Amino acid sequence: MRFSGLRVLKEGLTGNKGWGAHWRDAAPKPEYDAIIIGGGGHGLSTAYYLAKNHGLTNIAVLEKGYIGGGNVGRNTTIVRANYFLNGNSEFYSHSMKLWEGLEQDLNYNVMHSQRGLINLFHSDGQRDAFARRGNAMANQGDDAVLLDTEGVRKMLPYLAFDNTRFPIYGGLYHPRGGTARHDAVAWGYARGADMRGVDIIQNCEVTGIDIENGAVTGVQTTRGAIKSKKIGVTVAGRSGQVAAMAGMRLPIESHVLQAFVTEGLKPVIDHVISFGMGHFYISQSDKGGLVFGGDLDFYASYAARGNLPMKEHVMEAGMTLMPMIGKAKVLRSWGGIMDMTPDGSPIIDKSPVDGLYLNCGWCYGGFKAVPGSGSVFSHLMATDTYHPDATGFQLDRFRTGVGLIDEEGTGSQHNLH
Ligand SMILES: Cc1cc2nc3c(=O)[nH]c(=O)nc-3n(C[C@H](O)[C@H](O)[C@H](O)COP(=O)(O)OP(=O)(O)OC[C@H]3O[C@@H](n4cnc5c(N)ncnc54)[C@H](O)[C@@H]3O)c2cc1C
Repeated sequence: MRFSGLRVLKEGLTGNKGWGAHWRDAAPKPEYDAIIIGGGGHGLSTAYYLAKNHGLTNIAVLEKGYIGGGNVGRNTTIVRANYFLNGNSEFYSHSMKLWEGLEQDLNYNVMHSQRGLINLFHSDGQRDAFARRGNAMANQGDDAVLLDTEGVRKMLPYLAFDNTRFPIYGGLYHPRGGTARHDAVAWGYARGADMRGVDIIQNCEVTGIDIENGAVTGVQTTRGAIKSKKIGVTVAGRSGQVAAMAGMRLPIESHVLQAFVTEGLKPVIDHVISFGMGHFYISQSDKGGLVFGGDLDFYASYAARGNLPMKEHVMEAGMTLMPMIGKAKVLRSWGGIMDMTPDGSPIIDKSPVDGLYLNCGWCYGGFKAVPGSGSVFSHLMATDTYHPDATGFQLDRFRTGVGLIDEEGTGSQHNLH
């Protein structure tokens, strides 16, 4: 089933009866060439690129719940390539390029909107730091424009520019940054993988990993045992638990992050904005809701919901930056479980167990990484070599301390990244 303007028109005129399911409801087979544990963004994109780029199609994606039920369908949908440090820089640049061709590649409308991201700064020191970041982005081939107060005012006139405590000195504008419809990204990859023969198996929780003589041989699941000599783990906030099934203790803590959406409003915010003096970021969804979020709740948890103090903190930051937001009614809030590493950067690596590969540690920035992550992780799983744009994400850096990618400069404390 291909989507096209003509098809949409025809279906619209004939009662929309010709659309089929986007992927098959596959039952597990006894054995696969590769298994991906976790049907979030990273698992689905890995399966898709394994099939598309490496010709591996006898693959199963095992998802304990439903596609889109994890963080891939819970995030604030910000897509950007504005990293400073080597390691992250080239990887997110790689991911951004894939985003830019994704809808054509998947033949699926993921509503990728490059509406521009503006990171505000509120002091001279912060301006210097953002100028430096902007130069690093430009050196990487990405786009960055340093705006002064008037430059920001032209684009975002509704902000509180003269707040006594946090006056707006300017912003780092990243025109190619923006948003995408999060669950459509999961659905688009699921459909694309399924079309290439990948079995997407929902309601199938992995409960054990079978290992013989130091190599994986398969998994135990709630739908029976399944054999495979190649297994990729892409379970985001559950990474520690699944790695423990293979006897590993990962340098990861799971923390809860909340997000919020207001009632639908007429178009008012046409960029992605992030406040530089409190953790607060906001955009407006295509349905009109203001989608915003802030910091982690700061305690480790597996509960996909947060607590009131962080809600209060986020609302305060929003009111400080744009007092008009006080008129909007919050419709919903929710949480997701973040796989936080000690340096705030991900792990894409082989594990000490032969045939078992790890993809985790996305902290709260893994949505924008979905295309890039699938592309480089499938490369690693298929060839056993690191993709040139993802050589820095090796597990060993946490043992040796060499090659840490501490973008925030906060040191080895998971919840501060
Ligand atoms: C509130 C919030 C806001 C965020 N905002 C942004 C943002 O604006 N921009 C950005 O880039 N990132 C953002 N993120 C981060 C981003 O959403 C995550 O880093 C990313 O989605 C994680 O990867 P994933 O999609 O594969 O995870 P998930 O969708 O969580 O996928 C993992 C899957 O593994 C499954 N699983 C777990 N254990 C098992 C098992 N034993 N067997 C089988 N399946 C299992 C889970 O059910 C889940 O579906 C945000 C996250 C949250 C929660």
